Formats: sequence, C-alpha cells, structure tokens
Amino acid sequence: MSVLVVGSLAIDTIETPFGAAHSAVGGSAVYISAAASYFVNPIRLVGVVGGDFPKQGLTFLEERNVDLEGLQVINDGKTFRWSGRYHYDLNERDTLSTDLNVFEKFDPKIPEKYRKSRSVCLGNIDPVLQRKVLDQMEKPRLVVCDTMNYWIERKNKELRETLNLINVLILNDSEARLLSKEPNLIKAAKVIRAMGPTVVIIKKGEHGALLVTEQMIFSAPAYPMENIFDPTGAGDSFAGGFVGWLARTDDMSEENLKRAVIYGSTLASFCVEKFGVDGLKDLTYLQIQDRFRQFRELSRFDED
Ligand code: AMP
Repeated sequence: MSVLVVGSLAIDTIETPFGAAHSAVGGSAVYISAAASYFVNPIRLVGVVGGDFPKQGLTFLEERNVDLEGLQVINDGKTFRWSGRYHYDLNERDTLSTDLNVFEKFDPKIPEKYRKSRSVCLGNIDPVLQRKVLDQMEKPRLVVCDTMNYWIERKNKELRETLNLINVLILNDSEARLLSKEPNLIKAAKVIRAMGPTVVIIKKGEHGALLVTEQMIFSAPAYPMENIFDPTGAGDSFAGGFVGWLARTDDMSEENLKRAVIYGSTLASFCVEKFGVDGLKDLTYLQIQDRFRQFRELSRFDED
C-alpha cells in the first residue's frame, strides 16, 4: 500500500491571463503527494527545500498525512524556484525561469523504513536523481515516472537509463514527440515503450490522455471545465491520482489501469480549479467518486 514520492518542492511564480500567484508553494512532489494521499496513507516523501520554504507548505503536506522523514531541509540554502506564464490557450505554457538552487547538490537518501515501499512515483526531477532513488529501493512492484522537456533536452542519455528501470512513463504530447522523434502519438508511444516502460501515458491537456500498453490503447477524455484558474500541477496531480489508485487496489490489470487513468484525470481536474495547491486541499472521497462517475457519462452513448 505504501507509496514513495520523489520530486521537486518549489516556490512557483505563475501568471495566467486570469491572475497571478507570486511565491506560491508548488513542485512535482507536493502535487503528487497531495493527490495520492486521497487514496493511500501515509505517503512517504523524499525531496529537498531551503530555509525559505514556506511553513504553510509543510503544514499542507502534514495535514494530508504525508510522512516528511525523507525531506532534507538545507537551512542556509534556497528552495528550487520555477516561474511560468500561460497563454490565452492554457495548454500553452512558457517557462520563464528555472533555478535549481538546493537541487543542484541534492543527493537523495531514502530512509531505511521507505526502502520496501511497494510503489514509487518519480516526479519530474533530474533523471540522475530518479535513478539514484531506484538504486536504494528493494524491488518495488510499481515504478511510475514523470519527466519534462527540460530533462529530455538536457539529460537525454541519463533519462534513457532511468527509463530502462521503470514500469510506467507519464508525459505530455509535446514531450512524447520530443523524446520519440515521432510526430504521431500512437507511434511515439510504441517508440517510448521500446525504451523500457511497459505502459506509456500521453497527456493531452484539455483533450484527455492516451494509455498505451502492449495489448491496448485507451483514450480517456478530460473533464470539460468552464473555469480553469491555474493548470500548474495538473500533470503531477494526474500522476498522484494514478499511482494512488493503483497502490490502493494493488491490481495492475488493464481494466484497473484504465480506472487509474480516470482517477488521475479526476484529481487533475480538481487541481486546476484553484490557484497552486489549493484545489487539492479539502476534497472528500465522495466528491472524487462523484466526478469519477461523471467521466463515464462523458463518452457513453446508445448504439441505437
Ligand atoms: P506540471 O504543471 O504538472 O507540469 O508541474 C508543475 C510543477 O513542476 C511546478 O510546481 C514546478 O515547480 C515544477 N517544475 C517545473 N519545472 C521543473 C523542473 N525542471 N524540475 C522539477 N520540477 C519542475
């Protein structure tokens, strides 16, 4: 049941056409842990922050029952900072700055009690660090990995080594094209599967997600939303919901992988309704179930 989450803890500055947030708590590990925490407890987090990481960020994680024993705090260091600007089309985002800060010298140490975790979710960080984490684990049953263009372009060889060690890769459509050098997404998924992961999930923003295994292609819709305030963290919330559901059910069948994709999309839809991590604060299991069921109605129709 246990899930180990590794990734960034960040101070984000986000601009959208509808508003801005300065120095907000963010980071892949924060979004993944919060989303997964609605399915399994406790989530075990490994990451690093500087002395400037806001207290409310840690309180938020503690309130979600996230175990912070694996969090390194470098009091005289600065937290990872990222800033991004969304276009009018919220699927388009420009990264304005990425300051690795304490991540530059981060050496992930997995606490003894975390090493037998059955599921691992490697959030978007340097693939060298992702690999260092896996080297310390004792045969996890499920390894889910996220990445982004920043690492595909800068650390391609290292990323390819990490891909050899994982079960599921989650990435968005432009990243899939970049990694595979293949414009067609179905072919791209095949090329990426040949790099190691048996399951590839390609997210397409407001157009849903594709789940590709050896035997099947499943196309999940995205939840149609009228009010998207901040898409930041949608991908990580998707990964958290996905891994959380699989860890809770301990079932890797194709039908359950489909359910996990829908739970991932459900958590992503709650995330984007508010700024920063606020959308993942006070959900109830009932709310999650209700939206999960609405997904089924989205593309159900009678034959005659
Ligand atoms: P998403 O919107 O799901 O792609 O994730 C956004 C989060 O990823 C933000 O909170 C950022 O702090 C974090 N992030 C952005 N770039 C990087 C990077 N190069 N490495 C690690 N985390 C990142």
